[in-house]
Order: sequence, then C-alpha cells, then structure tokens
Amino acid sequence: MGENYSLHEQHINQTLVNVQRTIGFDKVYVRAEGAYLFDAEGNDYLDFLSGYSVYNLGRNHPVIKKALHDVLDMDLPNMVQLDCSLLSGLLAEALVAITPPQLQAVFFCNSGTEAVEGAIKFARAATGRARIVSLEGSYHGLSLGSLSITGTTSFTEGFGPLLADVGLVKMGDLDVLESLLKVGDVAAFIVEPVQGKGVKYPKDDYFQQAQALCRKYGALFICDEIQTGLGRTGKMFAFEHWNLEPDIITIAKSLSGGYVPCGAIMTSREIYQKTFSRLDRCVVHSTTFGRNNLAMACGLATLSVLRDEQIVRNTEAVGGYLGQRLAVMTGRHPFVKEVRIKGLMCAIEFQEPADLAMKMAWKFLHTIDRGLFSQMIVTPLLSRHRVLAMVAGHNMDVIKILPPLTIGKREVDRFVDGLDDVLGHARKVHGPMWELGRNFVSKALKSRKRRTNVPAGAGA
Ligand code: PMP
Repeated sequence: MGENYSLHEQHINQTLVNVQRTIGFDKVYVRAEGAYLFDAEGNDYLDFLSGYSVYNLGRNHPVIKKALHDVLDMDLPNMVQLDCSLLSGLLAEALVAITPPQLQAVFFCNSGTEAVEGAIKFARAATGRARIVSLEGSYHGLSLGSLSITGTTSFTEGFGPLLADVGLVKMGDLDVLESLLKVGDVAAFIVEPVQGKGVKYPKDDYFQQAQALCRKYGALFICDEIQTGLGRTGKMFAFEHWNLEPDIITIAKSLSGGYVPCGAIMTSREIYQKTFSRLDRCVVHSTTFGRNNLAMACGLATLSVLRDEQIVRNTEAVGGYLGQRLAVMTGRHPFVKEVRIKGLMCAIEFQEPADLAMKMAWKFLHTIDRGLFSQMIVTPLLSRHRVLAMVAGHNMDVIKILPPLTIGKREVDRFVDGLDDVLGHARKVHGPMWELGRNFVSKALKSRKRRTNVPAGAGA
C-alpha cells in the first residue's frame, strides 16, 4: 500500500499518473463504504463521482456482497455456454419487468461500449441499412464502432479511419435529422436521453419528435441508458422523462452492482430475431463472459436493492433538494452560469464574470485551455473539503457530479457548502486558487512542448 502511483507509472498509464499528480487527485484510498472513501489516516472522502455512475447503490453494498458470496458458495456450473443458465434467465426476466412492454428480449455483455457495439449490429441486421446517426457532444464508448458514433472529437483524434456510415446532428435540429433520415439508409438514431458530457438534455419535446421521424422513415430509435439507466435521473430510465418508446436500449455501469462488469442490450423480440435469424446464426453475436453467474447475481441483487430501498424515489427527492440548494448559487456567485440537473445527474456551468480583475484572470486561463477553470474548482473541492467531483468533459467550463443514489441531505449539504466556499475563494484573484490555476497553465504549457496532451481532468 502506497506504491499505487509508482506501480502505475512504471507499468500502466504514466500520462494518467502525471495528470492525477498535477491536479492533486493522487490520493491513496484504502477502504470504501456507501458514499465514502477512506484514506489510511481514516479521513473520509465524499464520493460524488461513483466510479462514473457505477456505484448508484454506493460502494460495497451488503446485499450485493452477500449475493456474490452466496453464488460462490453454491459451486454452480458457470459458462457452460452450450446450456441455458438460470441466473441469466432470471436477470433477463427482472429487466423485462422494469422496462416498457416492447422491450422483451435481452442480450448480456460485459461493458457499456460492448452494449453499444451490439446495438449497432442489431439495428443494421434488423433494418438492412448501414448508417447510424448520433448527436453532437455524445459519448457512446471507445471501441471503434461506438467511437465512430461518439460526437466528441477529443476522443476520436488519432484513431481513424472510423466507420464511414455515420451522421452527426445537433440536439434540437430536427430539419437536419429529417434530411438524413429521408435518404433511407439510416439504421438507427442513437441518443443518451441525458448526455453525459456536460449533462445536456432538451427542454422541449425534441426527443418525441425525433422518435416520430425515425418511425416515419423506418429507422430504429436507440436510447443509450448506460449512464442514465437504473435510477440515475430520478426515473428508472431517463427516456421516461419524455415518455419515449425506444426500439433498443443499452444498459451497463450500475447493473454491475460495482463488483462484476455487466452490460445489456434490450429490444423487441422481432428486432432481436433479425440478428439470430437462422439456426446457423444462433451465436452470430456473442461474447464468452456475457452471461457469467457472478455478473448476473450482481445484476439481480442490484435490481432488488433498487426496489427494496426505493432508490428511484430517493433519487428524485434528494435530487430535488440538491437542485434547490444549487439554484441559490446562480445568484450568489458571479462565475455560476447555469445548473443542469435530472435526479442525481448534475452539472454546474461557469461563465466569464463581469468584474474586471476576475474577467482578466478568466481570460488568461482560457487562452491556454477551456477546461482549466473547472479543474480549478474541482481540485480544492477535494483538497479542502474531501469531496470528489469531476470536470464534465474536455474544453468546457462545467463540473459534474454523479453521487450514489443512496445519499441524503447530509451529503448534499457537505457538497454544496464545499462548493460555496470554493466559489467564494475563486473571487480572490490574488488568492491560492488562482495560484493553482497559474500552476495548471504552466504544467499544460510544458506538457504541450513535450507533445503530450494534458486533458482538463480525468473524467471519462
Ligand atoms: N455510453 C454512455 C452513455 C456512457 O456514459 C458510457 C461510459 N461513460 C459508455 C457508453 C461506455 O461504457 P464503458 O465505459 O463501460 O465502455
């Protein structure tokens, strides 16, 4: 213990270690429980990142842990492959019970990006068309198919050529979407109902209309619920906010219970069968570890905790309280532009302030990197208040939180009071926070000379 960062520096991702040291995130955590991480001295850190929404139920949840122990102790047959295992059948049944009636058939895989890859293939097989249309600013994963439809260029640079048959549209622009759909070669339009990068969502019925256009032109409508699903936004699935009826949804992250990776694609029986269309195609899309018992047990335990602890209701209630407390920040701090929140998926966007000294400091930072101000907020949140939050994406003045859905007012108060304090210090342009900002600038400039890229933060 304590060799963590040097081991990674030697054998894993040196650049990431460099970034973590630069931004002061090089902590050594030794224990975790619920919404808290602990260091060797016993200090508690409020985890408002939840492993990027893996820990919707908090860390080391006793029910998930017990389910894993039970399954291990049962010495079950596992991954026989040429059988039908019970636990995967049970998890599929449980997932079908919490989704709309058109989603009856489940495919299990191991990660978010794998679920998206499968959804692309299912859509192509079902429609006989090639093109996948997605939204600007979207994030669907980093394997080549998912990356090809990810609308965030900072992830695609250097990895081309990607899939050719794609299309990118602006959220809200129905005309461009329709012009693409009209051509007749679009297999699917895929959206995150609430975009992870920046926490963006339409304020009107854009999704409803987009879905109607998909129906009109024979394209499938896919909702990527990998981050938003299973309660995150105060509904079981985020598409429920707009009463959508997706043809396919993708799930991952928190279905794992935070223990064993688990992803799923859900669709109609009709669409599903277009992929597995003949006896010789019965495993034409498959993955070795897809239905393994430990992952299935985690999924089953997760769904039962969601129900028994009324997690979705808590998310809506605590998210409401968080929203109320953050709303006050907009008037109180000149840097705060907007708060965007759905359930416990929340972003705070910053803006250039009117005050001359603050404006100059802001401009200086932004000539170097648009993400540095957000990092300047997130770093003291951790160092001064022991609250773990993240920058919301590359090149944006936005911070983001994804707290466990089990939190209460106490955790919300600690975060909001911490943020209030940090934003108060941000007004002192000769104070330690802007010193930190200047430090980031010099590190970023040095790193560019070495032709390595220091991102604004370690947020995925
Ligand atoms: N889609 C969305 C909406 C996501 O948020 C993510 C993960 N951040 C992915 C896909 C990719 O998931 P994974 O990292 O498990 O491949």
